Amino acid sequence: MMHFDSIDAYKGKIKKILITEEEIQSAVKKTAEIIDSLYDGTPILLVSILKGAFIYMADVCKNVTVPCEVAFMTAQSYFNDTVSSGKVEITMDIKQNLADYHVVILEDIVDTGRTLSEVVKILKGRNPKSFRVITLLDKPARRVVDFKADVSLFTIPDYFVIGYGLDCGEHFRNLPYVAEYNTEA
Ligand code: 5GP
Repeated sequence: MMHFDSIDAYKGKIKKILITEEEIQSAVKKTAEIIDSLYDGTPILLVSILKGAFIYMADVCKNVTVPCEVAFMTAQSYFNDTVSSGKVEITMDIKQNLADYHVVILEDIVDTGRTLSEVVKILKGRNPKSFRVITLLDKPARRVVDFKADVSLFTIPDYFVIGYGLDCGEHFRNLPYVAEYNTEA
């Protein structure tokens, strides 16, 4: 958790807007169009890993026209600097039997790729009818495992970003845009 002594201290953490609200909303429409055209009327299951992707999930699912269910999970990862893969525990699982579904993961950001690649392994092991990963943001410069989303909407540099679901100390998730976090202020 984080504590701010003043609104100026809070605002001082928002360094620069990288992706505006308008740009995000057009990426949301584009995401839904891609899903509609890929699945062409076939029912799907949209899955997000909480909390970062909750706003993207909410916005995209409102714009999708194929029949869809939504499901959320939480995952805890235990990585350190020397071990780049291995331990991810699903702390809240989805209830659906994936063998019955075409699954689309909606992710907020792929950074090192470690968490998502492990979660993908686990979910694919449940034999879904098909499986795709769509990410709003991608930071390829930070990747430590070989992981590529099927669709990525924005490629961003190696900045720590906040907003549109992404937090720092649980703050800033509610910003309607994506901004660079100010580590100095
Ligand atoms: P990965 O396993 O790919 O390194 O970690 C992905 C998770 O780390 C994301 O789902 C997100 O929660 C968090 N993360 C990675 N990069 C950023 C960032 O720039 N800003 C924020 N707020 N979270 C990030």
